[in-house]
Amino acid sequence: MRNPTTLITGIGSLVTNDPGQGAGPLGLLTDAAVVLDGDTVAWVGPAADAPAADVRFDAEGRALLPGFVDSHAHLVFAGDRTAEFNARMSGQSYTAGGIRTTVAATRAATDAELDANLARFVREALRQGTTTIECKSGYGLTVADEARALRIAAQYTPETTYLGAHVVAPEYADDPAAYVDLVTGEMLDACAPHARWVDVFCEKGAFDGDQARAVLTAGIERGLTPRVHANQLTYGPGVQLAVELGAASADHCTHLTDEDVAALAGSGTVATLLPGAEFSTRAQYPDARRLLDAGAVVALSTDCNPGSSFTSSMAFCIAVAVREMGMTPDEAVWAATAGGAHALRRGDVGVVGVGARADLLLLDAPSHVHLAYRPGVPLTAAVWRSGVREV
Ligand SMILES: [Zn+2]
Repeated sequence: MRNPTTLITGIGSLVTNDPGQGAGPLGLLTDAAVVLDGDTVAWVGPAADAPAADVRFDAEGRALLPGFVDSHAHLVFAGDRTAEFNARMSGQSYTAGGIRTTVAATRAATDAELDANLARFVREALRQGTTTIECKSGYGLTVADEARALRIAAQYTPETTYLGAHVVAPEYADDPAAYVDLVTGEMLDACAPHARWVDVFCEKGAFDGDQARAVLTAGIERGLTPRVHANQLTYGPGVQLAVELGAASADHCTHLTDEDVAALAGSGTVATLLPGAEFSTRAQYPDARRLLDAGAVVALSTDCNPGSSFTSSMAFCIAVAVREMGMTPDEAVWAATAGGAHALRRGDVGVVGVGARADLLLLDAPSHVHLAYRPGVPLTAAVWRSGVREV
């Protein structure tokens, strides 16, 4: 049986991210139409030339773009850290807890509670236009808790990332080497079947360059592809390691030497910037302009997590990146869609082209520029994911 086709017409401004399709790097088309056939895009072009379809949707002159691709999120957890945020923003020092608060709450939660929490966040992101979302483990830090986090995440996204090396588990505080052995051994064995990616927090206070290399190499040997939390809080070896090991992405990239920037620019490793983290910790933003001018591929992502960046809003990240990080609105929108797809090595999302997955965001605005121009305003008019109207 044939799928019913849907014609979306009257698109005032269409971001395709295909320069062959329209103007500039965003491949912008005006007065455009798109035809969806099942879960894929079947036709893109001028509205006047559009073929007939079973269902017709009039965009009434508004802007349509690919659904956001959020390539960095930590969504399998329980509890929250309101008190910690409140103390930090009130100028008080907050010593208790931190990530261990979330680890304790996550371990104590039932599978059903973690599942329901994750479902809520995936839905929350979808309502804001995110149609692809990556999801990391990293709040269990035992073999069983890391494996169940990935098992639950895999029900919601194929982009699951094993992050047993988020921090050293509290039980191993006095013997981090033994924890690395666990992460590269028994825990990896339990987690690899549920994961596509392997990640490590390469940072002072988490894992050093040698430990990070051991974690990533072990993951690669099990068929996982690396991505790295690198150079967030200070300079370090993370970015160089990511490039050397062919990681899909080096994430945060807040503190970079000229050598780090050159290494990213000359590599297939995407620089993923996470402005929600700097916003929520009152820290210095990464310099997107410097990376772009050097020729690096830049992605924007939320880093959604209960500690340092509790936002699921890609539109918010776009607005901050434009205001604070030297990106143009076009660059930021590209980074939040096609950039995220590059960071996940996906050719079927982050674009609107024939054969792409039918993941689309219709804005209550005439242009994608409004995502930065109207910060904090809910602009989602409609969302299609795999051809299904979800919002
Ligand atoms: Zn992160």
